[in-house]
Amino acid sequence: MWASPDTQVAVVAKDKLVVTTDRTALKLVPPTEAPDGIRIFLGIDREAGAGQTADGRAVFAVLVQGEPDDSYAGLREIGGILDDREAGIAVNVVGLSNWHGVHTHCANCGEHTVVVEAGHVRECPACGAHHFPRSDPAIIVLVTDDQDRHCSVATRTGRPDASPLSPASWSPANPWRPPYAAKSSRKVVSSSGTTCTTRAASPGPSRRA
Ligand SMILES: [Zn+2]
Repeated sequence: MWASPDTQVAVVAKDKLVVTTDRTALKLVPPTEAPDGIRIFLGIDREAGAGQTADGRAVFAVLVQGEPDDSYAGLREIGGILDDREAGIAVNVVGLSNWHGVHTHCANCGEHTVVVEAGHVRECPACGAHHFPRSDPAIIVLVTDDQDRHCSVATRTGRPDASPLSPASWSPANPWRPPYAAKSSRKVVSSSGTTCTTRAASPGPSRRA
């Protein structure tokens, strides 16, 4: 799949991705132009017209070492202007990049771990333990009016700068689904809205064990 000429590769350094020169979209490169790094298989794009065969095309990410330069952009800069497909790719690979960045050693015995399972698992060569990205559901909700003209924000009591926050909540036991977002938003900002749209999903923010 990697070598197929229509494979697309997102290039990631730390929490930033390579973007087009006008900084409005991800720059997805063919495998021949991808730099060296940790390869992560993201899946097969089977949307109508994707790829050169009926099976669709493979999408990978490559995590490169070093600091991102000006050809990269973070989610805070471009996350709101990417289309749904690219937003999904971006948040997924940034989450995995952050996880790989801080889970370099085994939480069980301290040995340096190696990347296996197409970039989605780290394995300890000493004790055999497998380490996975955190996957319990977590959601961030932006509450807007029906024409996306206004959004609701909250503030933290006691913070001197009273910086606004998007209402957020999480569910440790139940799968993430839109009704839960509507319910949690009503609790936080008394919004009565019920129409929810999922923009993107990613492995949650990584934490050390
Ligand atoms: Zn170990």
